[in-house]
Amino acid sequence: MSNAHRELADRLRLKPGKRVHLHEVDPADTLGLPGKEQALRGLEKNVQHIAALQERLVAEHRHALLVVFQALDAGGKDGTTRAVFSGVNPQGCRITSFKAPTPVELDHDFLWRIHHAVPGRGEIGIWNRSHYEDVLVVRVDKLVPKAVWSRRYKQINLFERHLTDNGVEILKVYLHISREEQAERLRERIATPEKRWKFSPDDLRKRAQWDDYMAAYEDALRRCGTGHAPWYLVPGDRNWVRNLAVSAIVRTKLEEMDPQLPAPKWDPSVIVID
Ligand code: AMP
Ligand code: MG
Repeated sequence: MSNAHRELADRLRLKPGKRVHLHEVDPADTLGLPGKEQALRGLEKNVQHIAALQERLVAEHRHALLVVFQALDAGGKDGTTRAVFSGVNPQGCRITSFKAPTPVELDHDFLWRIHHAVPGRGEIGIWNRSHYEDVLVVRVDKLVPKAVWSRRYKQINLFERHLTDNGVEILKVYLHISREEQAERLRERIATPEKRWKFSPDDLRKRAQWDDYMAAYEDALRRCGTGHAPWYLVPGDRNWVRNLAVSAIVRTKLEEMDPQLPAPKWDPSVIVID
């Protein structure tokens, strides 16, 4: 079996506690890949492996896999989900998009709604945004005092530890796009009637806070990158690089989990169906 997907995943995984300078990371990096054609073939292969491994994950019914996607607006969270999970059985998937909290959610601790969305045994959970918004938008927009959000990194680490101790494997993916690429994608959303619904004027307010977001992401990547729930930093400007990279990360993780088909609790040799 080729190891290319594993090498790609290893390369993109951030070392726990290491500081990343996002302005030094090229969002258009092609990661030394030979080209788009080959990357698309690699994606197809990874998608097939992910599909087969997911069937075993469901059958084994012991562990869950949680894939967290974080990115700025138009960062590619939806497109990546579509490309990477196109082969999986939707019955075994739980996809959650986290929006601004409702009044009821705000009456609880910030992890209350998050815990509720954690995938069950045998499931793959895919999160479009997550509890990391509580140290990103919440920090940048000063929705709570610093004394409150700054305690959350530790709370997040303890929460994620609790999940992994209880059979939930966690991958966290930050899709890194450039300001120019975001502008391109937002312009396209406005120009294309079918895509207009994805745009919100608030996206421009957040775009103006670019540097604050980069600083908040750098802290989240450093302070919440752990051995048990690592962050992956994926260049996001080129869809074919991004999709291949994320498919390699998910495939590698599922292979490591190595789900096993359960042995039947009955003896197949004595069963007769007339
Ligand atoms: P979208 O992903 O484009 O549908 O937008 C969802 C919006 O919800 C984004 O603007 C997020 O910043 C916002 N959001 C998600 N989680 C939170 C949170 N915990 N607190 C405040 N805003 C949030
Ligand atoms: Mg949006």
